[in-house]
Amino acid sequence: KELPADPIVDTNSRQVLQACFSYVNPKKTAQPELIHVSKNMLKNLGLTEADAKTEAFVKTFTGNSILPNTKPYAMCYGGHQFGRWAGQLGDGRAINLCEIEHNNNRWALQLKGAGKTPYSRTADGLAVLRSSVREYLCSEAMHYLGVPTTRALSLALTGDMVLRDILYNGNAAYEKGAVVTRVAPSFLRFGNYEILAARQDIKTLKTLVNYTIKHHFSHLGAASKETYLQFFQEVATRTLHMIIHWQRVGFVHGVMNTDNMSVLGLTIDYGPYGWLEDFNFGWTPNTTDSQHKRYRFGNQPNMGLWNLYQLANALYPLIEDATALEAILNKYKTDFELESLVMMRQKLGLQLEHDQDAQLVQDLETVLQLAETDMTIFFRNLANFKKEQPEQGSALIKDAFYEPSKITAAIKQQWVHWFEAYAKRLQKETMPHTARQEFMNTINPKYVLRNYMAQLAIDAANQGDYSLIDTFFKLLKQPYHEQPHNQQWFAKRPDWAKYKVGCSM
Ligand code: AMP
Ligand code: MG
Ligand code: MG
Repeated sequence: KELPADPIVDTNSRQVLQACFSYVNPKKTAQPELIHVSKNMLKNLGLTEADAKTEAFVKTFTGNSILPNTKPYAMCYGGHQFGRWAGQLGDGRAINLCEIEHNNNRWALQLKGAGKTPYSRTADGLAVLRSSVREYLCSEAMHYLGVPTTRALSLALTGDMVLRDILYNGNAAYEKGAVVTRVAPSFLRFGNYEILAARQDIKTLKTLVNYTIKHHFSHLGAASKETYLQFFQEVATRTLHMIIHWQRVGFVHGVMNTDNMSVLGLTIDYGPYGWLEDFNFGWTPNTTDSQHKRYRFGNQPNMGLWNLYQLANALYPLIEDATALEAILNKYKTDFELESLVMMRQKLGLQLEHDQDAQLVQDLETVLQLAETDMTIFFRNLANFKKEQPEQGSALIKDAFYEPSKITAAIKQQWVHWFEAYAKRLQKETMPHTARQEFMNTINPKYVLRNYMAQLAIDAANQGDYSLIDTFFKLLKQPYHEQPHNQQWFAKRPDWAKYKVGCSM
């Protein structure tokens, strides 16, 4: 009620002016069917497993019934897509149901794929099972990895078929429609502020920023120019931490457009994301970005900064202090370098700080890219390295090489050098081997949602078999734990998956 709403209540695609959102009801579906529920998320919301088995639950979280005294809505936002201002985008297929307060936490519940809104433009407002499985599994997996993220409550089939182009043969094909209920304290994005600034609607911009601070940054105090600046500083810090975590676990978002950047610093919009298989700064999972690779792994920190520049521009009319905004942006750059080194030290199990650490890290990043080397396997196995036996290093990481036959004598030599340097550096540490091993195993995950795993779960789900979704969901709840019965998922991408995997819409 505090934010201006769109006075028109139909779902025709249109420009929505002087408003932050539009009331819209989800679409009724043919045969709603629940596939999976996150028990932890149920608990967070104060719901029980019995609640999740009711018809009311299925109906609510597929958009077939609306909770009493609630008014679902879609949000208005714009965005810079691939470096260009794209104008109004908005929740084209996301509908906010309500907010729930439980245990002093506030959660907004949002359906993704529940039908058209005024922001759907030419698209259908729907989602297919494929993309929904990817969002559902990955957002919960990220949470358990300790990466700030939006959450997921449930994954359901709608019973409707959805038309999608299958890109590789040009034929139109129907796929099963699905809805994910996602959950976050707020889904506000950089683009929510940008659209208002772009329209020079400073009044609404101010209302939205005040609202954001009041509900999500209340520790900053009453609204003022100084508070707005602190708000921006905090968004920058949160964005930085989120991206540091992405780099730590090898997550590549794939579409870091400003409409996909949460002001709460949460990973949002799981589209064409992917996980690094071989460690490669140049890799992007997004096939539509394969030429410029704007959102490649190694460019994520820069893109975070680029996006923060756009947010700074949007907030400028309220702050009117370019020097102060620039100081925050410059600080992001230096902080990123510092925090990145802190994170890499942790990955290497180093507790102390030494001048040569940055060089050691840089040298590692170089050798890791000499031949395709699996990031997850490499870092996990590195915990078994003993400084007394540097010559065993190469044996430890053998499993991480994708094509062992391509490991030349020269590459082997460079690895030997690096392991010697690492052993020497470990001599300076005081932490005993087993303690370091345990510590490293809390930083370097054993299990991540490898691209081919998501694909296997999708292929089975399309055949009506949801058991792999459940297997992966449980596996990824404990990504840092040894799970001997799940050892098969601690494995390199199989050859069949090399070129096949990758999907988004
Ligand atoms: P994305 O690249 O997925 O972040 O989406 C960019 C914009 O397109 C957002 O405004 C989305 O809501 C919208 N969009 C994506 N897919 C659909 C769809 N199937 N129907 C309606 N809008 C969509
Ligand atoms: Mg998006
Ligand atoms: Mg998307």
